[in-house]
Amino acid sequence: MIIEEMTMKEFEEGLERTRTVLIPFGAVEEHGPHLPLSTDTIQAYEVGKKAAEQVSLFVAPPIHYGNCRSTSTHPGTISIQTATLKALTKDIVNSLRQQGMKNFIILTGHAGGAHKMALQDAGEELIAQFQDITMAVVTEFDLASKEDATLIETFGDSHAGEIETSRIMHTHPHLVKGSALREFPTFPMGILVRDKRKYWPNGVWGDPSKASAEKGRQIEAVVVRRVIALVREIESFREDIFL
Ligand SMILES: [Zn+2]
Repeated sequence: MIIEEMTMKEFEEGLERTRTVLIPFGAVEEHGPHLPLSTDTIQAYEVGKKAAEQVSLFVAPPIHYGNCRSTSTHPGTISIQTATLKALTKDIVNSLRQQGMKNFIILTGHAGGAHKMALQDAGEELIAQFQDITMAVVTEFDLASKEDATLIETFGDSHAGEIETSRIMHTHPHLVKGSALREFPTFPMGILVRDKRKYWPNGVWGDPSKASAEKGRQIEAVVVRRVIALVREIESFREDIFL
């Protein structure tokens, strides 16, 4: 059930089938010279939509903006502060809870450290505030993980490389503008730099030349399967609280 396409009546009827909602988060962020700026959002939203074809699940409109640091000076990246992201997450969950939702899956296609931390912070505050909700905060990266080990040829591939290029080739081939060279950033250990692009010229972390639409299909299928398993898990999750 794709919330942005539903009517008030359909939403109301949907609540009789499930109280679980997936909220896709992404980023407006450079993804090399060949992938669209909304790559992370596209991936998370696609997974949500495909999971919702197989299991009763609300999918909220995606949050396109995220917190980006290492790509902040690359052309096209539009970043929001972690405090904004956290407040936005809390507001959306709050409102969905008032609409009757009980189980919340925050799935982020962008896996930046500070970005993920802001989502987790929001989740922790929400479960402390409301005893009647269950929350999961997961990255696409967490969900794909080891199962792809044999499929992915590039060790350490993470951003606009083999994995993400394959994913967009599979779902949005018209948005893939050729390919890009293998690249890994060379940031100095521990030292924060102002000009990120100097240490990461093309904004690729991995090897796009190893990408294919078929790999994208297979990786996406893994993530969709994991999301469906998570929906079932969160719906049967009971926490024993010893206070
Ligand atoms: Zn990405």
